[in-house]
Amino acid sequence: MRLVLTILLLLAWVLPAPAAWNIVMRDNRRYVSLEDVATFYKMSQPVSEGQKFRLTGAGTSILGTENGRDVLINGVKYVLCFPILTQGGRTLISAMDVVKIIEPILRPQKIKNAAAVRTVILDAGHGGHDSGARGPLGAEKDAALDVVLRAKKLLQENGYQVRCTRLIDTFIPLENRAGFANKHTNAIFVAVHFNKSNTGGGTGLETYCLAPRGVPSMDEENLRYSDFVQYPGHARDPENVALATCVHASLVRTLGLTDRGIKRARFVVIKNLKLPGILVEGGFMSGAPDSRLIATPSYRQKMAQAILDGVNRYKTAVTGQMLYQKPSAVASATDPTTVPNLDGKAAGSPTPSPVGAKTDDQNAVAQVKEALENAAKGN
Ligand SMILES: [Zn+2]
Repeated sequence: MRLVLTILLLLAWVLPAPAAWNIVMRDNRRYVSLEDVATFYKMSQPVSEGQKFRLTGAGTSILGTENGRDVLINGVKYVLCFPILTQGGRTLISAMDVVKIIEPILRPQKIKNAAAVRTVILDAGHGGHDSGARGPLGAEKDAALDVVLRAKKLLQENGYQVRCTRLIDTFIPLENRAGFANKHTNAIFVAVHFNKSNTGGGTGLETYCLAPRGVPSMDEENLRYSDFVQYPGHARDPENVALATCVHASLVRTLGLTDRGIKRARFVVIKNLKLPGILVEGGFMSGAPDSRLIATPSYRQKMAQAILDGVNRYKTAVTGQMLYQKPSAVASATDPTTVPNLDGKAAGSPTPSPVGAKTDDQNAVAQVKEALENAAKGN
C-alpha cells in the first residue's frame, strides 16, 4: 500500500525542460541524473572521483557523495531531502531536491512573488522560565537575546525596520511568535538559538528551514503521515531556502565554526509563518570551543553582523537590488567574491522554472494525503 501511495505522489510531479529531464523511478521516488541537472543549469558535466562527484558552472558548484545526503552547493552544506543514488553508471538526485533546494539557490531571481525586504522580525529563542540550553558559561535565552539586540541595531542602521518578538527576558509561547511575525508584510523572520548536545560537547553552526510537504523532518529517513500536512510556511519554500542559504553562508564565513549544514524541520515557530523564515543555531552551549566563544561579546557581535550580511545578500538575490557590487547571496561561504549565475537568460529561460511545478506538487501531495486517510480508515 505504501508503495502505491508513494508512486501516486511521485508520478504527478513535473520538472521543466521536458526534453532535458529523464525521470528515473527509484525507491518509489522520482530522480533525475546529474547530467540533466548540469545541462539545465549550464554547468559542466559531472566529474567523479571515487564516490565523490562535482558539477561546476559560472560561479556555481555542486559537490556530493554517492549514497550520501550531504551536498555542498557553492560551498554551503545542505542535507538533501533524499539520498543521492546511482544507477547504470549515472548519479541520480531526487526531483524534490532539484525543485526545493537547487533551483531557488541557483536562480533566486526566479522565485515567484518574492516579497520585498523592508522589515526584519528577530526572534530571540526561549525566555523567562524557559532558559533553553544551559552551558557552563550561561543560558541560551540570554545569549540569543543579546545577539538579537545587536542585530537589531545593525539592521536599523542599515535602513531596515526591525520588530522583535521579545526585548527582555520574558516567556513567549511559540505560536505567539509566528502570530506576531504574520502581522507584518514585506518582512522576513530570523529566529536566533544556540544548540546543545544531550551527550555533552558538540560544535558548529546549523540553520533550519521548513521541511517541504512530503519530505522527512531532520535526520529521519522514512516519511510519516504528518509529513504531508500543509502549513502556511510551505507557500514560502523557495524563499525559505534562499534566506537560509544567505544567512547560513554569512554565519559560517564570519564565525568560522564547523558548517553542520542547512537542515529541514517542522518547528512550530517556522511552520506557521506566512513570511519567509529561518531558525539559526549559532553554536553549542554544551561544548568547547563554542560555549567559550558564545560567552564573549565579540562573538555575539560577529553573529549579529553575519545576520545583517545574510539579510542584505538575500535582499540582493531575490529583488535584484544591488546592495553588493558582486551579489554572492547564494554563493560560496568560503569565497565571498564568488558570483552566482543571477542572469535568468543565461540560466536556461524561457524554460519554465522548476518552482513553477508547485501546483502539480500540491496536487500530488493532496492525492497521497487522501490515500493515506483512506488507508487509515481501512479501505
Ligand atoms: Zn533553542
